[in-house]
Amino acid sequence: MKCPECKDRFALTWLRYAKAPLGRISCPSCGARLVLKHRWFYWPAMLLGCALVCTAFLALGDRLTGSIVVTVLGATLGGLSLVLPADKYLEAHFSVLAPVSKAKATALADEAAPVPAGAAVLETETEQD
Ligand SMILES: [Zn+2]
Repeated sequence: MKCPECKDRFALTWLRYAKAPLGRISCPSCGARLVLKHRWFYWPAMLLGCALVCTAFLALGDRLTGSIVVTVLGATLGGLSLVLPADKYLEAHFSVLAPVSKAKATALADEAAPVPAGAAVLETETEQD
């Protein structure tokens, strides 16, 4: 992974992955707060992978145990054991890092239009008091 601020390269370790459940990590070199942005194929790949893995584990669990509780529990644990490494691989190799402030600014730009108008009204009301 390459930091957009200092251009330093670093690896997405399991510790960094575990500390960033929402995709926000810090650059180990400059400390910049970064957000992981997925490419277009991330969600289709993850959905297809989850569907295939869960179906396989559900079929295997049902055949081996016949218990719905054990089957669902086994499918969940087995699915996580395969899906989490796949998710980490996709994030480490195909995601794009962006500074948090710029990502927030672009996210807020879409929904920010009504907020300044309301804030301006509140400010004028408080000034009149
Ligand atoms: Zn950096």
